[in-house]
Amino acid sequence: MSVLEHPSFDNHEKVLFATDEVTGLRAIIGVHSTASGPACGGCRMWSYPNSEAALTDVLRLSQGMSYKNIMADLPIGGGKSVIMKPEGAFDRQALFEAFGRAVESLNGEYISAEDVGVSPDDMMAVRRSTAHVVGLPEGKAASGDPSPVTAEGVFRGIQVTAERGLGKRDLNGVKIAIQGASGHVGTYLAGHLAKAGADLFITDINVDGLEKLKAEYGATIVGLDEIYDQDVDIFAPCALGAVINMDTIDRIKAKIIAGAANNQLATRDMGEEVLKRGKIYAPDYVINAGGIINVMGEIAGDFDPAWVQGKLDGLEATLGEILDLSADQGRPSNLIADELARQRIEEKRAAKLAKVA
Ligand code: NAD
Repeated sequence: MSVLEHPSFDNHEKVLFATDEVTGLRAIIGVHSTASGPACGGCRMWSYPNSEAALTDVLRLSQGMSYKNIMADLPIGGGKSVIMKPEGAFDRQALFEAFGRAVESLNGEYISAEDVGVSPDDMMAVRRSTAHVVGLPEGKAASGDPSPVTAEGVFRGIQVTAERGLGKRDLNGVKIAIQGASGHVGTYLAGHLAKAGADLFITDINVDGLEKLKAEYGATIVGLDEIYDQDVDIFAPCALGAVINMDTIDRIKAKIIAGAANNQLATRDMGEEVLKRGKIYAPDYVINAGGIINVMGEIAGDFDPAWVQGKLDGLEATLGEILDLSADQGRPSNLIADELARQRIEEKRAAKLAKVA
């Protein structure tokens, strides 16, 4: 397995392979960039078929965190970690304590948090081995569930995108389809949109959650697959990744695609396909940065709601800038976002080096 030659390596500053025979830990920590500050990103535990799949995942995810964190103008870099889930029974507490020792060995260059397959309680186990962990369920600055802030950022981002695509920020009477409406972010987002007067079309595997939204906001429930065919102005993917693909793009009638889900475009080229069809796409890692903004409050050690609101204002401005550049240049918004992210990381890196010299 090649590491330095891996197609997703993208000049990672460090990649740490950590194993522990006693607990069965097999983990990889990717530190993509510390140009803006310690690399911050969650720890994912997954049943990877092999270490190559785990490496591919961690490299892509940690680069993604660099882009997300720099575009949200946070004083943190990008990193991520993955644990290859042991087969059969294992001591979960001991495994995460061992993972914490690996995090500790990076002396604060990487700060962990929870991601898919990992809970706040697991982070408490990590905390026993290192202070470089956030997303804790308790403690002085514990930031708690990030979903409400993510949803607020997505709501504001939808308004910014509507201003460009529909000619108005006001969502009163605007038809919006939400995929994953019963989820953590989806539920809060539905509340914001309903209060703004939007007409909601919702779907989810969790039907109970949908019934609640129907009762509360008069939302229309549609089937899991039918969500793509709705005659709506805005499509908000808030469930899975890769939902914008060649099978769905021509079914989506919405002029605007803007939601919380990570990696919405199945491939980078889908940005061009979206643009060709006259649609506007709000790059996912820009519009869904509310969660990491919330977590940043915990890293700073003093959760300040006014600071969070200021960063959400910044999210709106950055998204507006990307969409305007995309319209002016006739180029896909996802590519413009990636370019801006890389440019900003380079500027931070140069400034950091100049300080050292
Ligand atoms: P969640 O698991 O609470 O919600 C996802 C919802 O999608 C669930 O209700 C699930 O039943 C539903 N779902 C799953 N498969 C579906 C399908 N095929 N069709 C329709 N619905 C389906 O997760 P969440 O925390 O609300 O996050 C939603 C998305 O936003 C994820 O992609 C996540 O990575 C991203 N995100 C979340 C945050 C956050 O703060 N929670 C921050 C940034 C990005």
